[in-house]
This record gives sequence, C-alpha cells and structure tokens, in this order.
Amino acid sequence: MNLPKPTETSAATILVVDDDGFMRMQLRVYLQKEGHRVELAENGEEALAKFAEIKPEVVLMDAMMPVMDGFACCQALMEIYQNPSPLILMITGLEDEASVDRAFEAGAIDYVTKPIHWAVLRQRVKRLLYQSRLQHQLESVNQMLELLAKVDQLTQLANRRQLELFLDTEWPEAIREQYPFSILLCDIDYFKNYNDHYGHQGGDDCLQQVAKALTKVVHRPKDLAARYGGEEFLIALPNTDLQGAIHIGEDIQAEITRLAIPHVQSTIADRVTLSIGCASTIPPLGSDWGKLVGAADQYLYDAKAQGRNRLVSGRWGEEAMG
Ligand code: GH3
Ligand code: MG
Ligand code: MG
Repeated sequence: MNLPKPTETSAATILVVDDDGFMRMQLRVYLQKEGHRVELAENGEEALAKFAEIKPEVVLMDAMMPVMDGFACCQALMEIYQNPSPLILMITGLEDEASVDRAFEAGAIDYVTKPIHWAVLRQRVKRLLYQSRLQHQLESVNQMLELLAKVDQLTQLANRRQLELFLDTEWPEAIREQYPFSILLCDIDYFKNYNDHYGHQGGDDCLQQVAKALTKVVHRPKDLAARYGGEEFLIALPNTDLQGAIHIGEDIQAEITRLAIPHVQSTIADRVTLSIGCASTIPPLGSDWGKLVGAADQYLYDAKAQGRNRLVSGRWGEEAMG
C-alpha cells in the first residue's frame, strides 16, 4: 500500500470564505498557484450552500463576517456533516486569543492569523491534507480488516466468528420474544473421497459451489449462512419454526442435486450430496444456543448413519429436556 508522504500532498478542492473581496482574491491566487482548485463564498450562509455543492476537502474560513460569522458557520458544518467531518481552518485576527478558543470550540481543526503569513498557511494546508488523506486510508484499511475478520475467504460466507456474534445477539432476542429458532447443519457426503479423487483445488471449487447454492436458497434478511468447519455449513434461522426450516433444508438439497457436481467416488449417488441435521426450538429461558447446535449435530449424525443424502430433524427444548 502506498501512503503519501507529507511533502507529496497533491491538489485539493478548497473553499475560501471571507467577506473581504481583496482577501478572497489573494487567497484564491495563492492557493491556485499551489495547484488547488478554489471556490469562493462571501459569508457563512453562502459557504453552507457552496459546501453542499462542491464538498471541498478543506475550508478556509474568516472568523468575522456579516450575515453568518465563521464560528456559527463552522458549527453548522460540523453538525450537518460527520464521518468525515469537514476540515476547517479558521482565519482569526492576530493576538486574538478568544477567537482562537472559539474557533476550536466550534470544531475548526486549526487556524491561521491575519495578516496572513503565506508560508505558514501553505504548511498548515499541506499538513491538513496529508492528515486527512492518511485518515481516509486508515479507515478503508480498517473496514477491509473488519470485513476480512468476519468472512470466510474461500466461500465468502460468514465465518465462525461472525456466526457466533450473530447467535449471541439473535438468541437472547428469540428468548425475549419467545419466537422459534432453527439451525440447519449441512455436511457434504464423502468429501474426503472427493478431495482424494478431484484434488484439493477441485475440493475448494466444490465448496464454493455449495456455498453459492446455500446463499441462493437462504435469503431472508435475518437468516445467516456460515461456514462452520471444513465441509460443514451452518444455517441459522431466527423466527423460523421446524416446518419452515425443513422446507429450507429440502430446498438446499434440491438445489445441490440440480447443480449435479459429479462425484464418482460417492457410493450413494453420481453427484455431490448433503446430509442435513435440523433442530428447532422456542428457546427456553436461560438457555444457550450451543444446545440447539448440539441437537442439530446429533440429527446430522443420524442422517449420516441412516445412509446420508437426507435430512433428519427434530425439536429441542422444554419437552426434549424433560
Ligand atoms: P461423511 O460423508 O461422513 O461426511 O464423510 P467425509 O469424507 O465428508 O467426512 P470427513 O470429515 O472424514 O472428511 C472431510 C474432508 O473435508 C476432509 C478434508 O479433506 C476436506 N476438507 C476440509 N476442509 C477443506 C477445504 O477447505 N478445502 C478442501 N478442498 N477440502 C477440505
Ligand atoms: Mg465433516
Ligand atoms: Mg462430510
């Protein structure tokens, strides 16, 4: 990744706000010479409209102006725009300590004094641009890391960590509302044989196709399809009862059958098949979701034992515990 160096700051759009026409012109000429695109406004109100139109990277704002002064305008901009906040450099009178304090209180990130010391202005703008661009880069890297931490790289499904976070929030909600919750645990049949025959890359391709089939079938906004382990997938279905979950499980199996991924090493079919364990409950008070996953795992085990390529289901809950 290429991070900019402070000395390499490139052109930006800068909004200059000043009621003094001569000052506006001087600032424009100077900033344009530095390679920036400059837009002008005569007072705070005009600046708000201009800001909305051009979304400048930096605002140079005179503190003292008629109609709406720099402090009020600065405060308004900070309230309207967040993430990222506008970068406002306030221009205050020399030796005017109170204005400097007010500028920072209003949300300005820095200030320069009048009469303008041009070398100081140049360095402040440069540093501001550098900081803001660095900040943007960090934010996009952080977003990427956050996504990477939640997504399984091979299948692009939720990974186990995201699944656990999801269950940690959805399960208490289901307990509170006393609505049904279902889990489907899907496992590819004879996948070790598949890998041995088609190679590891072939196995990976197969996992991707199965994952795609799952996302095709599982589409309610509250549902979550996750890669649970190597060739195991877990579908969490909040607000779905046993019948609904069986329906989705059967749709998944139909979709996998329709895909017809050849599997010559399977002893039960000519193509890739899935065994599914399906467990459903209205979560009892004080229960944890691990028990429902455990029940789905037991049903999956039964599906394997009964010959694979099938769905075995049942309820877990008060009656099962009793
Ligand atoms: P069963 O029908 O009982 O489920 O048998 P199986 O062979 O599918 O089950 P087993 O758990 O013995 O084998 C799972 C295999 O899945 C082992 C491993 O080779 C393969 N596997 C797990 N993760 C990956 C992966 O990320 N990529 C590939 N290509 N294969 C994987
Ligand atoms: Mg397995
Ligand atoms: Mg398997």
